[in-house]
Amino acid sequence: MDYEGVIGLEVHAELVTKSKMFCGCAVVMSDGESPNSHVCPICTGMPGMLPVINRRAVELTIMTGLALNCTIEEFNIFARKNYFYPDLPKGYQISQYEFPLCKNGWLEIETSQGKKRIGIRRVHLEEDTGKNIHQGSVSLIDFNRSGVSLMEIVSEPDLHTAEEVKAYAEKLRAIVRYLGVNTGDMEKGVIRFEPNISIRPVSSKELGTRTELKNLNSFRALERGTAYELVRQAQVLDGGGKVVQETRGWDEARNVTVSQRSKEEAEDYRYFPEPDLPPLIIERAWVDEIRATLPELPDAKYDRFVKDYGLSAGDASVLVTERAVADYFEGTVKQAGGKHAKVVCNWLTGELFRYMNESLLPIDQVKITPQGLAELIGMVEAGTINLNTGKRVLAEMFKTGASAKSIVEAQGLAQISDSNAIEAIVAKVLDANSAQVEKYLAGKETVLGFLVGQVMKESRGKANPNAVQEIMKRQLAERKK
Ligand code: ADP
Ligand code: MG
Ligand code: ZN
Repeated sequence: MDYEGVIGLEVHAELVTKSKMFCGCAVVMSDGESPNSHVCPICTGMPGMLPVINRRAVELTIMTGLALNCTIEEFNIFARKNYFYPDLPKGYQISQYEFPLCKNGWLEIETSQGKKRIGIRRVHLEEDTGKNIHQGSVSLIDFNRSGVSLMEIVSEPDLHTAEEVKAYAEKLRAIVRYLGVNTGDMEKGVIRFEPNISIRPVSSKELGTRTELKNLNSFRALERGTAYELVRQAQVLDGGGKVVQETRGWDEARNVTVSQRSKEEAEDYRYFPEPDLPPLIIERAWVDEIRATLPELPDAKYDRFVKDYGLSAGDASVLVTERAVADYFEGTVKQAGGKHAKVVCNWLTGELFRYMNESLLPIDQVKITPQGLAELIGMVEAGTINLNTGKRVLAEMFKTGASAKSIVEAQGLAQISDSNAIEAIVAKVLDANSAQVEKYLAGKETVLGFLVGQVMKESRGKANPNAVQEIMKRQLAERKK
């Protein structure tokens, strides 16, 4: 039978706040901190503790809701979600249930079938759990993460393929990073994906039974896990079986999903309003204030880059993936006097990205400033140095942070455009390679490349290649006579 996949994604993102969601403990993101060094009675669930709502966490969640076209609810209630787990010392998690902060939004994704709008059901606030660390026969618990503010973004079941799921997750990650509400560090688990997956006959409009894949923290695992699950469910149905509603895990090593536990229903959590917190009332004026501070988001930036800089779709989408890269690009173009947008894009996504990838450096740690790159590009465009020399200079700048001008001066790299100097080198090379000259004059024009190469070598790469070509052809023609 032909099936259609139906997928909704839950995304958990730790918020970039100084202190935790309900206490004053510092949020520590670095792995170097010793375990249980940032804990207090509140985030370890001691009897009698009283939580206090972190205003900044609420603000960051509202920002996200606005960026995702949600309505921001005025009346909010926190709820207790009861379940027992060793890394959850209170025996419940403070979350939101019937009254989430943000509702009914959408996000646009780009797929091979074109653009699609994916509904966002809700964005709510909750707290993260601690971390279990299993070592042989003992298990240890680190509560540094316990109580860190966690935002949950839940989509409508509007996704249909693994490709769409990945595109949605990538877009969402880009947005939270643009907003600065989450660092997007997937290896550190600060953003985690949980697809709910079901299938149905293509003709059907009813939802099938879903399975939920827990805690995926790479796009690769998300895409492959989803694809696997879609195929597995089709095989179950085709074999006459029924899909069991359950939570499954992705086994990276074996490339399969495995059953973890049967899925809890909402009743199992015995939700009730958190009695230790008052209702949270969001004033409209505050929402308007936050709206006014929203940065330009990837889609808007993309459109502007295509329109204002005349960039191709491919170039623009590479540049806007990360806000820091987009800013770097614009900074460089501005320093270059607003000219050369395409040239700047090429240098940035070609040469600079190559060195960043090799050294695993993010753009904000690169020693070359936009101003420095603009200076280099200006020198190449003006013909002060040629393209190849420019690339060598960039490598040096990347290593040492020195300016293009100082490198060119110190190493005497300025291009020789002076035609007298080039005439002399060309004549010298032609004299020294009479056999090749003969061949050329006999009609073997490919020899020209070799002869030009000799001149470039003789000039230590500094000759202006266009001038060399021109002068060389003229001198060769003269020798023919
Ligand atoms: P829970 O919190 O119990 O997982 P939710 O109602 O919050 O349940 O749904 C979680 C996610 O599952 C949402 O993204 C929703 O779109 C998706 N979802 C719900 N039913 C299905 C289904 N039958 N198939 C695929 N996705 C589903
Ligand atoms: Mg769920
Ligand atoms: Zn604490």
